[in-house]
Amino acid sequence: MKNTVIWLDGALVPQKEASIPLTTHTLHYGSGAFEGIRCYATDNGPAVFRLSDHVERLLQSFSCFGAPFPWSKEAIEQAIIATIKANAFEDCYIRPIIFFGGESLLLSPKELSIHCAILVMDMDKYLGKEPIRMGISSVKRIHPESMPIHHKINGFYVNSILAFHDARSRGFDEALLLDHGGTIAEGSVANIFFVVDGVLITPSTTSILPGITRSTILSIAKELGIETRVETLPLEIIEKATEAFLCGTASEITPIKSIESKYFSAPGGMTQALHTEYQSAIRGKRKEPALMSRSWVTFVNGEGNL
Ligand code: PMP
Repeated sequence: MKNTVIWLDGALVPQKEASIPLTTHTLHYGSGAFEGIRCYATDNGPAVFRLSDHVERLLQSFSCFGAPFPWSKEAIEQAIIATIKANAFEDCYIRPIIFFGGESLLLSPKELSIHCAILVMDMDKYLGKEPIRMGISSVKRIHPESMPIHHKINGFYVNSILAFHDARSRGFDEALLLDHGGTIAEGSVANIFFVVDGVLITPSTTSILPGITRSTILSIAKELGIETRVETLPLEIIEKATEAFLCGTASEITPIKSIESKYFSAPGGMTQALHTEYQSAIRGKRKEPALMSRSWVTFVNGEGNL
């Protein structure tokens, strides 16, 4: 990673000079919230995709600890823009993290100091550009009654790591996690879609992180007149589907070549069409769905923002 400038608790500082104590509560217990956001080069300079939605989810995620976050949503959005500018990035991945301080290792962090860091870095498409092979992991998605799994909390990612390692150890590229009822949940860090008889289908939000990319794809699909269904997905959908893809901020739209021994057309026609539209959307080249209450693209230099 380049020696970038990061934003830490209100100031831009060289990453090399930033440090936190080894007693940091979040390091021990996973008690933090984070986001993964992308900024893309556009004809109007760098632009962050769905900035407002990501920062909203970040603050909502952190709210599950019941501790007051000292910055406003607007302040964090501005801090993200300032960090991108300070590093002169065009295309980059942005990682904001909210974490608790190291004043005590007692279980509840409620009395601890609250910190926020924003890191920016180069990142290629996660999982690469080729269609991937998925294996069904024996590691189940965290039960929604055990954790508020709609939030993006640091500690939850041990579940993703174990599932990913399980799939990799069996020679697959990525894990498909099932929920405790045995129905399809999601990938380790991405949501999943299937195409069955020309209909685009994705699991309901019960056991997944409801991704911002997932919502982008559902809006684009509706606008294109593609029939969409959001429902509980039994394993049999894998046999019926002709196409499948993963989606997430880091992985964008990643066609799935196979799940276990079932092969799909990869990329299939609908996956390709959605990929083309998604690529236009992230670069601000596409008229945004009329139903959206806020613009998807925030230009870093301010030009062209609605
Ligand atoms: N599920 C999980 C578990 C994730 O970590 C991610 C990445 N944030 C996603 C789905 C996709 O979410 P998004 O489209 O908001 O990046």
